[in-house]
Amino acid sequence: MLDSTRPSIRPEVGESIHSMVLRLAPLFMMSTNDFVQYALHIAGTIHLVVTRIEALWRMAELAGWNPVEIEARLIERTTAGMMIYQREVPSEWVDLRTRRVAPGVLASDETPYHRISWHVPAIECDLASGEVLVDRCPRCEAILGWSNVESVFACGACEFDIREHKPSYVPEDLLRQARGFHAFLDGTADRLPSQLQALDNISKAYAMEWLAYFVDLPIGRCLKPSFRNAAGGLVEAKRWPESFDHVMDRFLASAPHLMGIGTKAEMVSQLMSAIDRAGTPPLRQILVNRAISILSKSSLSGVTAGSRIFRAQRDIRRSEGAPSQPLSVGEVMRMDSMRAIQSATSRSPFGIVGIPHRSRALVNEAELRKQSAGTLYFGRP
Ligand SMILES: [Zn+2]
Repeated sequence: MLDSTRPSIRPEVGESIHSMVLRLAPLFMMSTNDFVQYALHIAGTIHLVVTRIEALWRMAELAGWNPVEIEARLIERTTAGMMIYQREVPSEWVDLRTRRVAPGVLASDETPYHRISWHVPAIECDLASGEVLVDRCPRCEAILGWSNVESVFACGACEFDIREHKPSYVPEDLLRQARGFHAFLDGTADRLPSQLQALDNISKAYAMEWLAYFVDLPIGRCLKPSFRNAAGGLVEAKRWPESFDHVMDRFLASAPHLMGIGTKAEMVSQLMSAIDRAGTPPLRQILVNRAISILSKSSLSGVTAGSRIFRAQRDIRRSEGAPSQPLSVGEVMRMDSMRAIQSATSRSPFGIVGIPHRSRALVNEAELRKQSAGTLYFGRP
């Protein structure tokens, strides 16, 4: 409910705090910078306002808004990342400094305003229209920011009205994907498969980034796990573990026929390097366990690359006089994935992830490395 005795605006549904500050400042006869500094008491630029609950309360008081409605728009920093829509995500998942906008949407808005979802780089379009978001001025190419601008639609460098730019649209499937991703963020989506659902929110986020990277390995478009591919990764996370198994099947199907033993060994080791790129230890452990369960059932692990790696490493460790008691979970968490697999396989059946011992195949590490040449499947330089 607005108080008609003071200057105010009516916040739009889904409108970002940045946008509300830009619209409110002129009503108080102030520049945006002055409004942030003198009215909201923030010693800094506009993008800090949304992260400070006191600033939001102050803004609600000045404009006569119900503070509860405004609090829901808070994007808070946490020790591990950011809290958006009351969900914790890695900090690179939210960009408060770049102004990404849909020119056509702003042109058709009665009151042009910036949406909260436009702060999320993994969402590449406006969720209602599917219009591609732009983050550079179409005229001067300057990155659109929030400094020294008094509206959501003007370029800060050349003052071009971005609403004049011709809109373009994502295909229907990408729009669906973006909406699904937003539903995950705001908590209205279905739960993930139980193994991933049980992870903390940051690990869930990294699971999406990693799965997008992993399923793409046979194609090779993603260089590494990235927040930009998180929306596609959510689709793969919903398909867990089939999405993971499908790539493993391709890997195993190609290995025995096409390559020498050394190359297979290299492939297994590259699988482990890929898993090492997963963002958190709990996530890596799920991936390692799944990889082990698949490798242990495959012909590859019988006498070829997988077991040779495991066996070779075990022999090296034995010569170093490593202890033979089972690993604790804590130990595994501290190890990288490759070592976790090696240890688990050599200490079975008492290790935390047991694989039966296999026939003796003594290959030393140097020999393995010498043989390991050829196609790189799971990693890139
Ligand atoms: Zn410009």
